[in-house]
This record gives sequence, structure tokens and C-alpha cells, in this order.
Amino acid sequence: MKPFTYERAKTAADAAKSALRPGTKFIAGGTNLLDLMKLQIEAPQHLVDVNGLGFDKIEATPQGGLRIGALVSNSDLAADTRVRRDYGVLTRAIVAGASGQLRNKATTAGNLLQRTRCPYFYDTNQACNKRKPGSGCAAVGGFSRQLGVIGTSDACIATYPGDMAVAMRVLDATVETVNAQGAARSIPIADFHRLPGTTPHVETALAPGELITAVTLPKPIGGTHIYRKVRDRASYAFALVSVAVVVQKDGTGRVAVGGIAPRPWRVEAAEAAMPQGAKAVTNRLLTGARPTEENAFKVSLTERALASAIAEARA
Ligand code: SF4
Repeated sequence: MKPFTYERAKTAADAAKSALRPGTKFIAGGTNLLDLMKLQIEAPQHLVDVNGLGFDKIEATPQGGLRIGALVSNSDLAADTRVRRDYGVLTRAIVAGASGQLRNKATTAGNLLQRTRCPYFYDTNQACNKRKPGSGCAAVGGFSRQLGVIGTSDACIATYPGDMAVAMRVLDATVETVNAQGAARSIPIADFHRLPGTTPHVETALAPGELITAVTLPKPIGGTHIYRKVRDRASYAFALVSVAVVVQKDGTGRVAVGGIAPRPWRVEAAEAAMPQGAKAVTNRLLTGARPTEENAFKVSLTERALASAIAEARA
């Protein structure tokens, strides 16, 4: 690990100001960042510890939703009685990820910001535009079974690896931030994770120094909530495909998919096809998909996972 300096921030604005210094990263749970530092994929010169900022509460909003502090642990969020009752897809998605120990440390904001698990991103001997902009992409023409089938570019075909954000996408969450001037901003989760284009190293809509303070959920939408995750082993593995589904009694609903794209993948227009079944939804959801030979199975796997989740919800 390379040497770095460390400070404990006292206010959000102070943390954001410190983070304007080049080479600075925020740290909270550290469940992703520390691994990346040990591998020298991330080599921050300065860490700003935000654990003391008090963003660790889940509160009701005047609009009937919930405001989840950025530092609420994944375990506490999944176990919250209001989340379990009204946003079941979120609890199910969170407990499908990582391990109990990791969920105890990992935070809401950190989960949103976790980085890809593309194997070439983790191998510093390989070209990777995300790790080293302009160096190329070893995954194109390489081992791509785990990688993306839609939303990718010639510069990067990696996927966003998380589960929690897939559920938040189907729930229309909003990410709240503060910048170094103390100005707050609300970013719809649909706009939070960026597609790679020619700049795959720029992964989110956050500006330099901008700090996530909370994630807000709108008022509950009812329906039956299912999160179905398909992976190579039964636990502690990232999704090949995951689906977050909310189905209403009249057969309408919402769906977002994980494991197939650089961000949680939702196409609202595809949801009009829910009453016609999973195949119709998948056709619209994956229009324009560019799978590789190795990961073309993810297209049919998406359809089957969706069919299974919709059937379970309707039952
Ligand atoms: Fe890097 Fe993206 Fe290519 Fe993987 S797919 S090697 S993360 S540029």
C-alpha cells in the first residue's frame, strides 16, 4: 500500500472542501476502497474519513417517503421495519449482496459508489481505460462472460456490480449531495451512474469534492416486491443477472436489471409490456444490446429471471 495522509472530517462542507485537493478520497466503511488500495488500483494521497458526520439515520420525509443517511449500514437499512414493510425489494436486494460482515460495515453511499469487478480492472498488467484512461480495454476480445451486454462502449464493457442500487432504481430514489460551498443537490438515481462512452473512468454524476449525504425514497408504491439474483454460486458472488421487480395487482409493474450494464438498467417504456409477459419486456429492455460471444447467454437469462420473478410476484 502506498503512503497516504488521513483526516476525520467534522462537517460535510469541510469534508467536501478537503476532497477538492487532488488525489483525495472519502472513506466510510472502506469495504471496497481498502481492497483497491491494497492492490494499488486506487492510490489516494489523502483520505477524508466521513464516519463522524452523523448521516446514520433513516427518517420519514414530509412526502411520505424515507430519507436514508449516507452512513446507514447496509445491515441496518435492510433490517429497518419501514423498509421491510414498504420497500421490500430494497431489503431483498441488500441481503442478496456480499456477506453479513461486509453488510455491517458497508454504507449506503459507499454501496452506490462501489467499482466494477471486471477482472482486467483488477489486473494492473492489463490495459484498462477505467483504471488508466487511454490505455485500452483488455476485456474487448478477452474474457467477457461476466461483463456487460448493453450500455457498453468500445472503450469499456464493464458492469456496475451492486444490488442495492438496482432496487433503488426501480423505486425512483434520489441521491442527495453537498459540495465544498455547502450547496445541496438532488440527483435522480437514473442520472447518477454514467454510461462509459469514451470516458469510462468517470462513473457517476458527482463533481470533484461532492459528498453524498443521503438517499431519499419516494412514498411507497405498493405491489409485490421481488429481487431475483442469478450468480455462479449461492452466496457471496456478484450477479450474472439480477432483476428487481414490483408487480401490481392489475398486472402492471416496474423492473430494473443488474449485472448486464454499466449502471442499474431500467427502461420505463419497456414496463408497458408487463401484462404481456417477460419476453415482451425483455425485448424492449434490451433493444440495442451488444453481447459478446461469451456473455450472449445473459440476454436469455434476463428473460428467464424476469419471468420467474413476475410469476413469483403474481403467485
Ligand atoms: Fe477496464 Fe472497462 Fe475494459 Fe474492464 S471493460 S478492462 S473495466 S475498460
